[in-house]
Amino acid sequence: MTWRDLMCGDARPDHVGRELTLSGWTDTRRDHGGLVFVDLRDHTGVTQLVVNPERSPTAAETAKEIRNEFVLRARGELVARDPATVNAAMPTGEVELHVDELEIVSRSTPLPFQLDEEGVDETLRLRYRWLDMRTRRMQANLRLSHAVISSIRRTMDGLGFVDVWTPSMTRGTPEGARDFVVPVRLQPGRFFALAQSPQIFKQLCMIGGLDRYYQIATCWRDEDLRADRQFEFRQLDLEMAFVEREDVLDVLEEVVVDAFSALGRAAPPRPFPRLTYADALARYGTDKPDLRYGLEIQDATEVTRGSGFGVFRGAETVRFLTAPRAFSRTELERLEEVAREWGAKGLAYLVYDGDEVRSPIAKFLSEKELTAFRAEPGSTVLFAAGDEATVARVLGGLRIHLGRELELASDDDLFHWVVDFPLFEIDDDSGNWTFLHHPFTAPIAGHEERVAGDPGNALSQHYDLIWNGWELGSGSIRIHRAEVQQDVFRTMGMTDEEARAKFAFLLDALAMGAPPHGGFAMGIERFVALMAGEPNIRQVIAFPKVSSGSDPLTGAPAPVPDEQLRELGIRLVDEPPRQPH
Ligand code: ASP
Repeated sequence: MTWRDLMCGDARPDHVGRELTLSGWTDTRRDHGGLVFVDLRDHTGVTQLVVNPERSPTAAETAKEIRNEFVLRARGELVARDPATVNAAMPTGEVELHVDELEIVSRSTPLPFQLDEEGVDETLRLRYRWLDMRTRRMQANLRLSHAVISSIRRTMDGLGFVDVWTPSMTRGTPEGARDFVVPVRLQPGRFFALAQSPQIFKQLCMIGGLDRYYQIATCWRDEDLRADRQFEFRQLDLEMAFVEREDVLDVLEEVVVDAFSALGRAAPPRPFPRLTYADALARYGTDKPDLRYGLEIQDATEVTRGSGFGVFRGAETVRFLTAPRAFSRTELERLEEVAREWGAKGLAYLVYDGDEVRSPIAKFLSEKELTAFRAEPGSTVLFAAGDEATVARVLGGLRIHLGRELELASDDDLFHWVVDFPLFEIDDDSGNWTFLHHPFTAPIAGHEERVAGDPGNALSQHYDLIWNGWELGSGSIRIHRAEVQQDVFRTMGMTDEEARAKFAFLLDALAMGAPPHGGFAMGIERFVALMAGEPNIRQVIAFPKVSSGSDPLTGAPAPVPDEQLRELGIRLVDEPPRQPH
């Protein structure tokens, strides 16, 4: 007997009258006084089996033993359902299989959770991921992920990009995270770092004349796990020689639009809007704004100069945003908490409630100020005052909070670019200049001198791609002259010896005929999660880690035997603590 003539989701009236074999999992089993109904499921859907003791006494005996998730093989005749029992909600709802032979292929122990159960603890789902994977949600997500990657490959291949494999085990690649290190038995005391990205290798591919490189590259970064972050993830990593920024953005827009089309979704219009970093921060308080709602931040520094309200008077920057709602006292207290979480000391506001203005600060404000802040009845003006960075952060945080709480976001898919990032920022720990993204980003034309002379005012040729407030990826035009690269390392406080010790291979390569080049990396899991409407990338990854950094399924990370440590030349300072989850 064959395993299956049809998939479980494919039975249709066309097949009526045929003898068919179906195999799959028991989705549900209902016993109606001897007549047993089984919904047999595979990833395509379910077909109803009817086991009638009058038709097959042996099958009826077998059916008694069936429990959820048993694997079955059933042979019988596909029959049109009685019109009264047709289920219009199911693609297979007009037919059922009247079973002649039934085999329990594989049994299941009692289940830790039912597949359709709501509110199951996620760690439990991940511990039994093979069950979770049988749900429609996980099946759809993993298949969507595959479809996205196939589409990306088609686009990249079509544009003449060459897929090159670069090493995972390498030297530290600076992408702003910690490295995962790998000890080496043949060289105890020495460690590889797992690549945070193929960044330097892809640049070497350009210097090597490859012209257009891409890879669906796995990257490893030791940083705290969040909704959009895992220790390991994949990115569409690409690099192009002899290009300007716009050439790279063009390729990415094509990748995105093709993926939307491949999935049958309305593609976002091109070109995606460009927003400068300075503008993004001033108007939305973040470099990855969600543009599906307005709530734009406005500046009030000028108008509050010499204000009667001391907090405004003394502040370097005063800004506000106007929310479309007259908040109650309790709501304002909650908003103040949010503002404090983002670094504010308090929250000043003006509530326009009907004809009335509710606010403890209104009496200190001049006519000019009140005119500038005037809003429609049924709204609230929220202020932040202080240094520019804090003000941006606080209002940016409030904006996101309000966007979510008041459900302001439209249903659109909004893509945009953020460009003209600063090249350097001050590292809070060391007080040194450090790179914003990675140290290989080129300054914008005309700012080369500033790398050494005025780093704080050097702008870079870095760009980010944002989708509905998620950073999908980043890229830049790179430095292709060894002297400029040296300058960047020096500005970061590295001596030439230190720079050579870490990056001699890159500096040597840049000195041997490096073409101008630039590239990008787009997070695959972020892209798929957004496509799937999932709030966490874990839901689109087959076997992800939980936020403690553990894998509930295998129990990794796990201690290794002393013998293995000895071989690697490693002695533990402390006993490993017990598993955190
Ligand atoms: N290497 C960068 C990253 O992984 C992307 C790039 O600059 O191309 O984020």
